Amino acid sequence: MGYRTHTNGELRAENIGETVTLSGWVQKIRDKGFMIWVDLRDRYGITQLIFDEERTSKDVMEIASGLGREFVIQVKGDVIERESKNPNMNTGDIEILVSEIEVLNASLTPPFTIEKETDGGEDLRMKYRYLDIRRAPVRNNLMFRHKVTMAVRNYLSDKDFIEVETPYLIKSTPEGARDFIVPSRMNEGQFYALPQSPQTFKQLLMVGGMDKYFQIVKCFRDEDLRADRQPEFTQIDCEMAFVEQEDILQTFEGLTRHLLKEINGVTVDEFPRMTYDEAMRKYGNDKPDIRFGMEFGELNEVAQHKDFNVFNSAELVVGIAIPGGNEYSRKDIDKLIDWVKRPQVGAKGMVYVRCNDDGSYKSSVDKFYDEEDLAKWAKKTGAKAGDLICVLSGDASQTRAQLSALRMEMATRLGLRKSDEFAPLWVIDFPLLEWDEETERYHAMHHPFTSPKPGQMELLKNDPGAVKANAYDLVLNGNEIGGGSIRIFDKEIQSKMFDYLGFTKEEAKAQFGFLMDAFQYGAPPHGGIAFGLDRLVAILGGQETIRDFIAFPKNNAGRDVMIDAPAVLDEEQLEELHLKVTAQP
Ligand code: ASP
Repeated sequence: MGYRTHTNGELRAENIGETVTLSGWVQKIRDKGFMIWVDLRDRYGITQLIFDEERTSKDVMEIASGLGREFVIQVKGDVIERESKNPNMNTGDIEILVSEIEVLNASLTPPFTIEKETDGGEDLRMKYRYLDIRRAPVRNNLMFRHKVTMAVRNYLSDKDFIEVETPYLIKSTPEGARDFIVPSRMNEGQFYALPQSPQTFKQLLMVGGMDKYFQIVKCFRDEDLRADRQPEFTQIDCEMAFVEQEDILQTFEGLTRHLLKEINGVTVDEFPRMTYDEAMRKYGNDKPDIRFGMEFGELNEVAQHKDFNVFNSAELVVGIAIPGGNEYSRKDIDKLIDWVKRPQVGAKGMVYVRCNDDGSYKSSVDKFYDEEDLAKWAKKTGAKAGDLICVLSGDASQTRAQLSALRMEMATRLGLRKSDEFAPLWVIDFPLLEWDEETERYHAMHHPFTSPKPGQMELLKNDPGAVKANAYDLVLNGNEIGGGSIRIFDKEIQSKMFDYLGFTKEEAKAQFGFLMDAFQYGAPPHGGIAFGLDRLVAILGGQETIRDFIAFPKNNAGRDVMIDAPAVLDEEQLEELHLKVTAQP
């Protein structure tokens, strides 16, 4: 029967005595001359083949002895009981005594070992990604991703969502990140852009009456590369009509809960909700990891009454209690101080308080503060005997970010960020606008289609920074896995918003005229959310890097080293595209 009767992950003791045909790749060969064992691999697993001088014909023996790693072969043989069984393998009870063999394709010696553990470095494995995909860990990740996307599709489809494709060749818009640009051959001097997200299209689908939309879709952002970011990535993009924020939160909490149950077998209670302001105050971060405590204690009240100028001149004095940290030696603490002073963190220094077992305190600022003061700090940070209180101070938002970095680092060191523990939460009431130091103007924090909270439109004039939006993020284990908002659906309000964001009437019309036009033809109230699929899959899979869950990822420099892209174009192609290139790499 064709190339195979079974896969290489399928045969068990029950099959002993059957004659089978298998196909696959040669993973490993052990050749003793009179006896040859081969591990035959495919997507489903590994089956051991045996060639035995006494039981296998000479021709077949000869072919077997000429095999190399990664040859593609087809074999026929009998399933026999294995002498030394391997309990770590599904097929470990049996082996195949081969009677016929055909080499379907030879292989060069692979540049790295294609086994669970490999000797191949990152770059080499990226260059030969198709070989890396043969390895179980990579293959399993791709299969895991498939399982997640299928669960998403089924869940949403069951809830009446319809998957609609939106175009990839669209128009460049200045808000948000930088666009990837595609020159138009047929329209000299004109360009398409690749979508950063299908945002405006999904809103138009709501105007079009689709009611519930989703799409598992590629998005493109030409941003400076940060660790573990991909210039093209996948979103689960969703939009609903006739909804308020509560409807969206319920629906997508449902989806997330379904995934955790379906994929991880984990049941989670109702997701906690936290306002953006509270998240910043308690964790210094709008995507707090709440698998562990170490909440911030603000200390201004109890630390700015003495002669310690560093604290007195600070906008914010804030600390965390590190569980068991009093065990650290002076040297350990000095190292910690160096850690927060690294440019990546940027603190100027760190004050610490040892919480001794006898209830006394010893601090690095004993000159200024007495036991009574320190006891108050301990109370504010929730420190117990045996803990170490770490205190940072300075500009409020910078200090919060620095302490948040320390909190995450300490949690990692203390093993508090367990990959099999899941702590989702909603962060709500995001500010509508964000001040941008560089351009010295306000930007939409989420995007310009986000609706302010009811009754806050007026605030826009006097105190734009204080306006809160109907915008929410879904956070899982310290990662933003989804974000969305209730949209503006009124032409006048949308046009006012563009105004506030510094668009001239002409610019707004040129860039978003189509949306505002559509709003004049009966746009329903609507809102939505988009999940970062790559990150979501990685977290559910209990791993750190999204690259491990993408079949053909780009490297840290945004290059595909396998196909060698980006690349130069030849003159003719450039001419056709009406492009002049002045610099060649
Ligand atoms: N389009 C938004 C984003 O990519 C998500 C949304 O508002 O639905 O962040």
